[in-house]
Amino acid sequence: MILHINGALKPYYVQTLCMIFLPGVKFPEGEEPGEDIPEAWVALNEDGTGVSASVRLKAGDRETRGEARTAWGAGNGDPDRVRKLAAGEAFLAAGEVLTGIRPPWGIMTGVRPAKVATELLGAGYTPGDCADAIRRDYLTEPGKARLATDVSLAESRLITPEIRKQVSVYIGIPFCPTRCAYCSFVSYTSPGLLKLIPEYLDALANDVDGVFSVIRENGLEIASVYIGGGTPTVLSAAQLDSLLSKIGENLEKAGASPREYTLEAGRPDTIDAEKMASAVRHGVTRVSVNPQSLSPDVLRAIGRAHTPEMFFDAYRIARDSGVRDINVDLIAGLPGDTEETFRETLDGVAALDPENVTVHTFSVKKSSEFRAEGRFEPESLTAARSVDYAEGALRGAGYLPYYMYRQKNTVGNLENVGYAKPGHEGLYNVYMMEEVHSILASGAHAVTKFVSLPAPDGSVRIERLFQPKYPYEYLREYREGAGARLAALREAARGFFGKGKGE
Ligand code: SF4
Repeated sequence: MILHINGALKPYYVQTLCMIFLPGVKFPEGEEPGEDIPEAWVALNEDGTGVSASVRLKAGDRETRGEARTAWGAGNGDPDRVRKLAAGEAFLAAGEVLTGIRPPWGIMTGVRPAKVATELLGAGYTPGDCADAIRRDYLTEPGKARLATDVSLAESRLITPEIRKQVSVYIGIPFCPTRCAYCSFVSYTSPGLLKLIPEYLDALANDVDGVFSVIRENGLEIASVYIGGGTPTVLSAAQLDSLLSKIGENLEKAGASPREYTLEAGRPDTIDAEKMASAVRHGVTRVSVNPQSLSPDVLRAIGRAHTPEMFFDAYRIARDSGVRDINVDLIAGLPGDTEETFRETLDGVAALDPENVTVHTFSVKKSSEFRAEGRFEPESLTAARSVDYAEGALRGAGYLPYYMYRQKNTVGNLENVGYAKPGHEGLYNVYMMEEVHSILASGAHAVTKFVSLPAPDGSVRIERLFQPKYPYEYLREYREGAGARLAALREAARGFFGKGKGE
């Protein structure tokens, strides 16, 4: 797509507006105009009272226009935001006519819609005024403005000054028993690569020791521990027990008793009673058992190697283990899913009364075969109606939204929302998404993120340290001696926490 921008607007913002209506569109440098190349012209005109924006969009043989004017006092009064709101509104007018789509989130771009609500609530808006302002300025549906406000309110209850001074620990297992058709994660799934697991676990144990030694050296308190994947329960019961023992030893040495300890078990086809008993014995408080859908046809279409019955069995095993919290992940808008089958899935899950339900919207990255085969329908209304149904049904059953993020290339530009019974929120999700405190990570593809305490204006300083992306790179580094990486982590942590815990 080619952009023509006349005015003080960052191209990235205009690109994100284009992606609302044309998901997956690319902006290669030096692209030449052509019949199949969409184009957008955006022009701003500023005077003493505000900003006028005009937008022209061209896709195929269609061309549409939109105009808007925004006063300088709109939003939080920041001139850049006023320009964005004017351009966004004009873009929406042109985009709606071009595509026939009225995006539920209006012109709200960005990963964290609740961030805007947090700013407004922090500036003294009541929840009602906050939702009104979001709806008015960003042209969202009223329900989405309320959702962003409610998530922000839930986060503010969970993010205390004490939590900001603590850290969390992430441990990654990038292996899965088979590959889901929509997956674009680096997880290893072929039998040959699964043979690497024993060596990977040796390297990981070493890595976990290193991360915890840095935590002890800096006198840090641990708020939560998260074992994620991939599929952590792809490990045998003995392998899982050994990893949990290693983490347990380190928690004991650090004198830590985290508020939450999650094992993202994930795929129902990997969960058994022995693994769950081991998890609970080692202090795990939360597990995820993820069917994604309870429709056998949809599960087959997305290449999940389990049936709805296998999910119900795995859920029962998890429940019988006595673990405190169970999360169930679902995806709305999956290929082949309908509003009716999604409703059946949601109702079937809600009837089990799990503490958390996370409703994602189907999102396809470029490498996935869904996009290649044209099975991705960005404009699908099924997903929009499914997430609306989920919100209503879950609120009605006593769940509240507490965590939300958006991704690119998502059906209908929709959101992913975590719902929880009050007091059972998935804390790590909030700490990680809202960049509440540092997360020290081990395993391939894991990222350590140092997050400072907030400055008076609320901003935080962030530094990242990346682990090798693929397990084979991670293992090569381990074989050659992982001392350099630990030394880098130690030095970065000393630099970061040495100055008054990251202030
Ligand atoms: S379980 Fe998740 S990480 Fe594993 S293959 Fe499926 S989508 Fe990918």
